[in-house]
Order: sequence, then structure tokens, then C-alpha cells
Amino acid sequence: MIRTRFSRRRFLKTAALLTTAGAFGAAGCHTRKYFLVNPCRAAMPARLAESPWLARVWQGLDPAQVWDCHVHLAGVGDSDSGIVLGAQFSSPMNPLFYARRWFYMNGACASVAGAVDKAYVERLLEQVTAMPGGVKLMLFAFDYCHDDAGRPLPEESAFYIPDDYARDLAAAYPERFEWVASIHPYRPDAVDRLERAAAQGARAVKWLPAAQNIDPASSRCAAFHAALARLRIPLITHCGAEKAMRTETLYYSNPLRLRRALEAGARVIIAHCASAGDDADIDRDSKPRSSFELFARLMDEPEWRENLCGDISAIVLRNRKPQVLKTLLSRRDWHSRLLNGSDYPLPGILPLISPAALAAGGLLPETAVADLELLREYNPVYFDLALKRTLSWQGQGFPAEVFATRRFFTPPSAWSRIPASPRPLS
Ligand SMILES: [Zn+2]
Repeated sequence: MIRTRFSRRRFLKTAALLTTAGAFGAAGCHTRKYFLVNPCRAAMPARLAESPWLARVWQGLDPAQVWDCHVHLAGVGDSDSGIVLGAQFSSPMNPLFYARRWFYMNGACASVAGAVDKAYVERLLEQVTAMPGGVKLMLFAFDYCHDDAGRPLPEESAFYIPDDYARDLAAAYPERFEWVASIHPYRPDAVDRLERAAAQGARAVKWLPAAQNIDPASSRCAAFHAALARLRIPLITHCGAEKAMRTETLYYSNPLRLRRALEAGARVIIAHCASAGDDADIDRDSKPRSSFELFARLMDEPEWRENLCGDISAIVLRNRKPQVLKTLLSRRDWHSRLLNGSDYPLPGILPLISPAALAAGGLLPETAVADLELLREYNPVYFDLALKRTLSWQGQGFPAEVFATRRFFTPPSAWSRIPASPRPLS
């Protein structure tokens, strides 16, 4: 594990350099067009507040039902957050990861020397409070990669965001934040931790299988799957391609490996609807098929209709095939099982999403592009929501229920069955 000041200084220096160099375009801040670096503006201008595209977001949609179900917490551990950044993100010797770190932090407007953790949360709060009252963000913790015996492997982990940090933020801002635990199922205390997290108000559990060394089809997960089902706490798990360091475990992200959890009665949310990459078709010939096709197969199996959902975070990224978006928009029979999430800070990373390209592909009105691009400079969380509310294919958009996700995370009778916390809050 490397958490050196040297690395942080180098990182901030690089960030400053890119900020200076990356603001391309004409002089004058009102005309400058940004396409690489997030200018991190605050206080939306009147033009945006009056935009018809923003007004349309809330037509038929109650803000109090809008919970963004996929929001990453991040930082560098320069506060008492307990965040730990892995070696690959801390060393210029890993230039690709180093650059990714810079883009994440710029996307989140958190490149503040000595106060990255704090700036990250402040920017999130700034964005959500600029949205109508009732809108909330579900903040993700992120557990360490563990070995097959359930021992943490900090040196193989990209980052670590403690459950307690996410929980405490949700407790400090209950009107705007909810929290999502991350618990490695191989840990000897995994079920205890899950019960504790549920008792402390966690709304879901997040896994990133390849990066964390979690095979959802392994019998090692059985007790955890059973506990998820008993507690009715949903599992949000990444499927499809994953930019992780561990390439030997990439097949863990295969959607078909989630049947064990579903058979155990757990509620499962496939992150990004598995919208990128390929996986082996282990039902048939083990030949590679698009992960999205395997997601679709699972969604169409009648036995999982109650418990299987997809989150639509990241589906608008440039690296997704337009056909994925067209299918998700057209499959009206799936809409009650799609849940909106932003995968923040990705919507703040300008090169990743192109409203103009979506418009050129017939998925977005040309007239919405300028307002959406401007909104992104102020509020990427709002931008992500407004963009997805505006998408349509052959006259079919995502209905309000895709964004009214709160109902899924607050099932009417579930919480009363959770036992009181056996331990006091630490
Ligand atoms: Zn994510």
C-alpha cells in the first residue's frame, strides 16, 4: 500500500498542468467550450434554470422518489475518512491508472491540495442541493480485494472506501444521502457485517467482482446470498467489461454467474445492464457473447422477474454500442426493472459522454445538446439525469418509473424484519 505525500504532490502538479493546458477554445469564459477538462462551475445561470429540457425532467416525476442508485465515493485519504488509495493509482509508474485518477478527481472537482476527500463530498452536496428537494444520492463504500480464504489484500486493491465513511456521510446529510455497503462475501465475518450494515441503514451492497476477487457463482458466497435474501437488501454488482488490474478474474463479471444469488432469493441489480464487453456463454458453448446479450437472457427468464433488475448507469458512455441504448429504450417490458444511477463521477469526465454524438445517432433532440452540455459544467449529477430523461428512440423514452428508484430500496415491510444492531455505532 502506498500513500505517499510525494505521489499526491505529483498528482496535484499534473492536475494543475492539465487544467491550464486542457481548457481549449476561444477566449472569454462564456464562449469557451470545454471537452476535456471539467471547468467545475458552481451556481447555475438563469438560462439553465429556465431550460425547457430541465423542466421536462420533472414532468410526472416526484423528486422525493429519485434516488441516484450508483454514486461512487472517492478521495485520497487526506482526511479521517479512512480511504486508502492503492499503489496503482498512486504511482506515476502506472501512467494509465495515474491519468485515470486525474480524470476522476477533475470529474468530481476534487483536485484541492490537502483536502481532496472533503472537496469530493462538498461538490457532491453542491450538486444534489441544486436539485429539487427530495432527490438523494446513494453513496458507495468499496471493500478491499480479498483472497479465496477471505483475507484482505490491500496491496492488490485499487482503493478502499470504508463502510463507516459512507454510513457517516448519510447520517450527516440524511435529506440528501443514502449509503451502500461493500462487503466481501468470503470474509469470515461477512454475514455479521451485512446484518450490521442493514441495521445501520445501508440500502444495498456493492460488488465489483473482478477487482475484488468475488466469484458470485462460488459456493463461498452461499451464506452471504442467503443473508441478502433474508434481509431483503439488494446486491448491486458490476457485470461486463471492467477496467481492473486483475485480468485473471474478469470472468467473474459474467451476468450468468449471478444465478446462484437469484436462486437463493437475493435481489440483484446488474450495474450498467452489463452494457460493455463480452463474456463466455457458459449456458451453451462457452463462446464469447456480448455481456448485454447475457444480461438480456437473464432478464427474460421468468423466474427472476421479481428479483432481477438492471441499473442504467454508464449506458450513455461513448464506449457503449448505440444498439444497447436502443434496446433498453425499446424494451418497455423491462422498464419497471430498470433503475437509474449516474456512476458519478463518470458524468463529470467530459470526454466520456457526448450528447452531440447521441443526437447524431437519433437518440437525443439536437436542440437539447447545448443546454445539456452547459448543465454538465455545473452539475454532472443533474446532467446525467436530464440526459437520460431526454433520450428516446422511435418515440420511446425511459418512463418516470426508471428514475423513481426509491421504492426499490425501501420495500414496505422489509426494514421491520431487521434485528437491531448488536453493536453500537463506532
Ligand atoms: Zn460504478
